[in-house]
Amino acid sequence: LVVLQDVNKHFGDLHVLKSIDLSVDKGEVVIVIGPSGSGKSTMCRTINRLETIESGTITIDGKPLPEEGKDLAQLRADVGMVFQSFNLFAHKTILDNVTLGPIKVRKKSKSQAEKDAMALLERVGVQEQAHKYPAQLSGGQQQRVAIARSLAMEPKVMLFDEPTSALDPEMINEVLDVMVGLAKDGMTMIVITHEMGFARKAANRVVFMDDGQIVEQATPQEFFTNPRSARAKDFLAKIL
Ligand code: ATP
Ligand code: MG
Repeated sequence: LVVLQDVNKHFGDLHVLKSIDLSVDKGEVVIVIGPSGSGKSTMCRTINRLETIESGTITIDGKPLPEEGKDLAQLRADVGMVFQSFNLFAHKTILDNVTLGPIKVRKKSKSQAEKDAMALLERVGVQEQAHKYPAQLSGGQQQRVAIARSLAMEPKVMLFDEPTSALDPEMINEVLDVMVGLAKDGMTMIVITHEMGFARKAANRVVFMDDGQIVEQATPQEFFTNPRSARAKDFLAKIL
């Protein structure tokens, strides 16, 4: 479903993505882990074209990424992204946050969009907050709204960039539980996270990045118990 081939990118002199090859099948849940600065966020951001690439190809469902304009909005609807910071529209209600995209980009009617949004808010457990504003919600609730907002676009794949790392510990699991549910429902997901619990429960594959390269790919079981590369061993020794 998502295929990166020989993708390269620099920031100035810094070669941040070095010939990245990655292929994610429909329904697969892939965890990306690696040291700070290894290029995880940059790689994910290339997939919905928040970052451009210099060489190589990226395709979604066999189609190359669009260059700009209307097609880009379509791409960002197809490729949902949830960030560490929740990025909700502060001056809109939770319900409006979730219905905006479907009305604008997917051309849904307001009533249909609201009906679907309420079902999604219920799915992530925040239906009672629908008429509040983001600042009135806890971090964990806001992040679940951000997930619902992406889902409202009916994406083909969801990208998560450290979705729980800005949350207080007691809120982490409520967000991870929603993500585990999504994974079980068959959503294709690429998740940057160091949450081992999520990796064990939901991931099909771990991709380990270091210094702009994919160094190792394995099942969570293999990777966490028996990493092959010295770099992965080093990294795991630090985080586990
Ligand atoms: P972290 O775990 O800290 O989030 P990461 O693996 O996500 O790290 P990236 O954010 O992809 O790493 O960054 C890769 C490298 O590119 C880093 O050295 C970073 O400083 C650099 N970088 C990222 N974004 C930019 C930018 N917009 N301009 C210049 N350099 C950047
Ligand atoms: Mg990052």
